[in-house]
Amino acid sequence: MSTSENPLQLLFQTFEKISNSIQTHLSQFLKFPNNPHAEPLFAISAASKPNHLAPRPAVSALLQPTDLPKKEKSTGPVTKEQLGRATWIFLHSLAAQYPEKPTRQQKKDVKELMGILSRMYPCKDCADHFKEVLRANPVQAGSQAEFSQWLCHVHNVVNRSLGKPIFPCERVDARWGKLDCEQHNCDLQGSDKLW
Ligand code: FAD
Repeated sequence: MSTSENPLQLLFQTFEKISNSIQTHLSQFLKFPNNPHAEPLFAISAASKPNHLAPRPAVSALLQPTDLPKKEKSTGPVTKEQLGRATWIFLHSLAAQYPEKPTRQQKKDVKELMGILSRMYPCKDCADHFKEVLRANPVQAGSQAEFSQWLCHVHNVVNRSLGKPIFPCERVDARWGKLDCEQHNCDLQGSDKLW
């Protein structure tokens, strides 16, 4: 019996094709961290959803070579640079999600978070320096724009002290767009309550 005559064989072949296709897509997706030509996930998803920060410039055009995912060591202790990058990602993502009209509690939380960071950041020199940065630049978190601009500014203060390039803060929304989450899953808790 030939393949075309055997419906079961045809079914297996179709199944194999679908399975191969899924594997190809999955491996492309998993290759992302080491693929310098790939777009960042957030940029793709946010750019494809105009309701997130529209109109949005081609984010990839704003990225510097240093923005591209660095080849991180898969084992061994975390370096000061890796810890710093991860922390800035967290802080800028938080700022992007910060509400336009934060509650009193949210304003208090974000100030406390920065204070705690300056005491508990697991790099003593960085933490000590950040305490001084906070003293000279008290947290401003009256709105999303205010907090993200303040954060950009203090990140630049750290950049300057390390001899790194200054980031243009007018581009902060393009660099750190809102997270792409289903059903407001990334909204900060209590964002609809004014105290
Ligand atoms: P990072 O500075 O980690 O930035 C990550 C990405 O953020 C950049 O690629 C860029 O796309 C974007 N970015 C850069 N600047 C801005 C900005 N102003 N606004 C918005 N986005 C921006 N390291 C030390 O050696 N000494 C220290 O004293 C020290 N203090 C630190 C204090 C804090 C609170 C934190 C979070 C980190 C600190 N670090 C310190 C780590 C340091 O800031 C960097 O994270 C690390 O050197 C890696 O730098 P990077 O070049 O990969 O980019």
